[in-house]
Amino acid sequence: MINVAINGYGTIGKRVADAVSLQPDMKIIGVSKTRPNAEAYIAKERGYPLYIADISKKQAFVDAGIPVAGSVDEMIQCADLVVDATPGGVGIKNRELYEKHTVKAIWQGGEDHDVAGFSFNASCNYEEARNRQFTRVVSCNTTGLCRIIHAVEERFGVKKVRAVMVRRGADPHVIKKGPIDSVVLDPVSIPSHHGPDVNSVLPHIPIVTMAMIVPTTQMHMHALTIELAQDATREEILDIIKAHPRLGLVKKTTGIVSTAELKEFVMDMNRPRSDLWENGIYEGSVSVVGRELFLFQAIHQEADVVVENVDAIRAMAGDVLDGATSIQITNNALGFVAL
Ligand code: NAD
Repeated sequence: MINVAINGYGTIGKRVADAVSLQPDMKIIGVSKTRPNAEAYIAKERGYPLYIADISKKQAFVDAGIPVAGSVDEMIQCADLVVDATPGGVGIKNRELYEKHTVKAIWQGGEDHDVAGFSFNASCNYEEARNRQFTRVVSCNTTGLCRIIHAVEERFGVKKVRAVMVRRGADPHVIKKGPIDSVVLDPVSIPSHHGPDVNSVLPHIPIVTMAMIVPTTQMHMHALTIELAQDATREEILDIIKAHPRLGLVKKTTGIVSTAELKEFVMDMNRPRSDLWENGIYEGSVSVVGRELFLFQAIHQEADVVVENVDAIRAMAGDVLDGATSIQITNNALGFVAL
């Protein structure tokens, strides 16, 4: 059993905690919070021992009826591995703590590649994470790009990739971020950081990305063009997508042409928190013109990295040797039913 601690029980951390709890080979030994908010109540409800970053704030938790198991430092000492899901830029500050306790640690995409010196995606480089002390799971957008690019590359080779990312303005619960009524070029400069981030996992792929933010909380949408090295048919591409455990096909017959309808569909499937862990590739968009593949894919920002964290934990623990087996264990434990 791998003993896992979650440092930063927020949007990503709480999902990773629940996904880890369902796995046959790992368990949650603690989660951490900075203040006694709604998520702290849920941690208590789920029975996760709650640790706090600043132990001087313990009384505020006790006053709110939330028992405190100890400090983050104490939590780290009970763990084989820490998933750091603190906000971007905070995680790097915890590195010293993980080094001090020689505990394995996983950071998220809000940190730079250098935080761990290794960036992870289970479909692309699982084996390279085996027995590592430090790993970074790439961001939600990069995860979605890596999955499809790698799958297509394995079969047909990839000459170059061009992608436009239409990104959600904020997560649904966030009330202080926008935009409310604008399309914001983020960044205005090209390429955006997403292409170089894909290269942290797939260094050989020539890729240029452009990104903007729009007033939605539902999901990101990618407009993707992949120049193939060999001829391929649309049917062959669809077969790759159907066979891949982390590429979901939004069937044309569902009539779904938006992120809102897709989110509703996933909610109706009774997925926890209506989470779409796989890429949502719109079947109707998949087109091959000459040697170029075009498609739209929805990426659920709060969900796709969750399953990658679970696989990263398993890879770093070293017992499960290949990514395909780990992905299968993770997906089965979550009761993953294809779209
Ligand atoms: P979040 O703000 O929802 O959650 C972060 C949690 O960490 C909060 O509960 C906060 O109280 C806690 N925290 C803050 N400082 C802490 C500290 N010093 N010690 C312990 N806990 C602390 O953030 P998030 O959206 O879950 O993002 C976490 C990471 O995941 C970031 O690197 C982010 O870039 C990445 N990520 C986020 C998304 C997304 O869409 N939300 C998607 C992919 C990756």
